[in-house]
Amino acid sequence: MAKWVLDAGHGGSDSGAVGKNGRREADIALQAVYEAKRLLERNGEIVLLTRASDIYLDVKDRVDIANSWDADYFVSFHMNSFVDNSVSGTEIVIFEKGNKSEELARFLKDELLANLKSKDRGIKEASYTILRQTKMAAVIIEADFISNEEVENNFDSIKYGYMVANACLAMVNKILIDTPVKKPKTPKREGWRICIGYYKDYEEAEEEVLRLQNEGFKDAYVVPYPEDNERVKKLI
Ligand SMILES: [Zn+2]
Repeated sequence: MAKWVLDAGHGGSDSGAVGKNGRREADIALQAVYEAKRLLERNGEIVLLTRASDIYLDVKDRVDIANSWDADYFVSFHMNSFVDNSVSGTEIVIFEKGNKSEELARFLKDELLANLKSKDRGIKEASYTILRQTKMAAVIIEADFISNEEVENNFDSIKYGYMVANACLAMVNKILIDTPVKKPKTPKREGWRICIGYYKDYEEAEEEVLRLQNEGFKDAYVVPYPEDNERVKKLI
């Protein structure tokens, strides 16, 4: 079990890159971190989000959250953008190669490229504050180019979260399991009774009904407990 800080890039007054049709990088990142958090927690990992709503955080805030929580991994979710809107592709950015950050970056790159119709733009090194000052393995994901209209129209932020969770779990030797939580079905009946107690003794039950009726529960009545067949027969 590892401690993951999932960082939705941008937020609040900083929308990040905005596509031609108005999709905002900050919103995609936020939806993706929510899904990744859900899946990682479902698979026993511990997750902290730097932001859980559309608020502004600066780089220092994000670094401080990760360092003070003593996270094992820091994963920052972004979309790329470029003036030439024909450019597309996925890249992962780390501070330097040859460590756990690179290992995580490889899992992420493989997972994203396998699922997105996206070009491989590789794992890049960059001395960004957020990568340099975080004390744990840290990556920035640039999932694809929101400046590319086709990407903007088709990019699935929930799937983004799924892909990242899958890669993170692979990093800690786990396989993602996402069986739906079974909700009990509401049984079909003509009506419902409200139970107030179980009484071995019939007189005691009757007394309780009288007490309830006196307190204003005018419709209170005794019914036999169905599993005690002999008793049920006697009472009916
Ligand atoms: Zn960004």
